[in-house]
Amino acid sequence: MSRPRIVIVGAGFAGYRTARTLERLARNKADITLLNPTDYFLYLPLLPQVAAGILEPRRVTVSLTGTLRHTRLVLGEADEIDLDARTVRYADPEGGVGALTYDRLVLAAGSVNKLLPIPGVAEHAHGFRGLPEALYLRDHVTRQVELAAGSEDPKACRSRCTFVVVGAGYTGTEVAAQGQLFTDELVRGQPRWDGVRPRWMLLDIAERVMPEMDERLSATADRVLRQRGVDVRMGTSVKEATPTGVLLSDGEFVDTRTLVWCVGVRPDPLAESLGLPMERGRLLVEPTLQVPGRPEVFACGDAAAVPDLTKPGSYTPMTAQHAWRQGKVAALNVAASLGRGEPKPYRHSDLGFVVDLGGVKAAANPLGIPLSGPVAGAVTRGYHLAAMPGNRVRVAADWLLDAVLPRQGVQLGLVRSWSVPLDTASPELAKAPYAPAKPEADGHGSASGSTGTAASGRTGEAASAGDGAAGKKTPEPTGAARGRGTPERTDTSHTPAPGAEGDS
Ligand SMILES: Cc1cc2nc3c(=O)[nH]c(=O)nc-3n(C[C@H](O)[C@H](O)[C@H](O)COP(=O)(O)OP(=O)(O)OC[C@H]3O[C@@H](n4cnc5c(N)ncnc54)[C@H](O)[C@@H]3O)c2cc1C
Repeated sequence: MSRPRIVIVGAGFAGYRTARTLERLARNKADITLLNPTDYFLYLPLLPQVAAGILEPRRVTVSLTGTLRHTRLVLGEADEIDLDARTVRYADPEGGVGALTYDRLVLAAGSVNKLLPIPGVAEHAHGFRGLPEALYLRDHVTRQVELAAGSEDPKACRSRCTFVVVGAGYTGTEVAAQGQLFTDELVRGQPRWDGVRPRWMLLDIAERVMPEMDERLSATADRVLRQRGVDVRMGTSVKEATPTGVLLSDGEFVDTRTLVWCVGVRPDPLAESLGLPMERGRLLVEPTLQVPGRPEVFACGDAAAVPDLTKPGSYTPMTAQHAWRQGKVAALNVAASLGRGEPKPYRHSDLGFVVDLGGVKAAANPLGIPLSGPVAGAVTRGYHLAAMPGNRVRVAADWLLDAVLPRQGVQLGLVRSWSVPLDTASPELAKAPYAPAKPEADGHGSASGSTGTAASGRTGEAASAGDGAAGKKTPEPTGAARGRGTPERTDTSHTPAPGAEGDS
């Protein structure tokens, strides 16, 4: 008899952990296939440190094939799931398509940038959900500082050196806190900058920084940000974004070339496309992480609405901590459904949160104990090292280097503005300007066991960052099949805006 086929969609916190646990539980008893657009697991909590030039981008990744030896990796993005035929259709990074059949399916496709219907935001803001966006921000910020230094126009200089972050959750807070330190470091010791400091603003309609967290964490973060010189504006949002600035909800117009959109995330549109019961865009599941009426389908992480058994009536928040633990339970329950072990419900109480504010500062409450200052900094970094599934030594080495050497103030310019649109179903991939005309000779469904078919018709979704130059030709719109059914918007192309930095 053939072995059961387990297909896992998404290799983030939830999917990676599912695969890793299943390798232990079901090795040689089932075929485990992991479908993911990239060949790495991304440790998202350290992304702000990539944007701030502390960590090199590969540090926050963990190779899938290098660490999951008994799992077959299929590179691609699921764009259609036929629940009756038990097949997952996907597009690979070269434009080909394929299909995987399953006996058990684990959906762990995570989330994408959240949009709000504010004029100009989709065109002029950038999100912070994937490695391309972090790389883009690092280069863009460096370039603004360099262009400002060479400019004779004080207004343009001020505008380039004003960086606006919208959304004061943990992501926006860390981006602003790290960003201010980064730009201070870029201008340090340069006579041109004598007495002038780049300015970072952090806006949110909420009344306090990190409103979803313990008030003490929030107060610590607020204090550190203000001491550092970040202009923290709570109760304020953006009314309109233009190529040269943003109009705030209080009527002020701020000249800037940088708008970082950290207002939150929404579940990956793939979940929605299934036509199954949803809870705020997340796939509703039972405490065993099974989809009601489809016991062979499991979902976990940001994409799933998992009942929080420690707080009846609510669902677990979208955090790495929950996704990681849910991945393990999903694996246990998949194995149980194949006759190995007993199913168990997902139950987990928060163990606290850590927010790295850069330098030696952090805000943390491990096991509910509020910490600030260097102690919190040490706990935070220790936590991340322990939580990362790999690459720890390299991360620690980068931290050490950052402590003793100045940061490298160079921009490579490989990720362009238009290749990281805010409105995308795949923030993990930089958009390419031109889609492959046809799949390459062997470029479809090439993994054994998958059924390759003809060209997908997807445009601009290839995973090559930085090929092609802005100004040569406007990139094609990125109308990914996976964008279908997105409630807010569909993908749009991002041409360099006139008067904006242009990414040339
Ligand atoms: C900048 C940032 C900082 C954060 N910091 C923290 C923190 O400090 N602490 C914390 O608890 N949480 C943090 N979070 C939230 C946390 O990272 C998420 O809750 C967590 O990643 C969710 O795990 P997941 O497995 O559901 O999704 P992800 O980790 O996002 O993984 C989803 C995977 O699915 C893949 N995928 C997507 N669509 C498809 C498709 N169609 N087909 C195949 N594969 C697909 C993606 O490429 C990705 O590999 C942060 C998030 C961000 C963006």
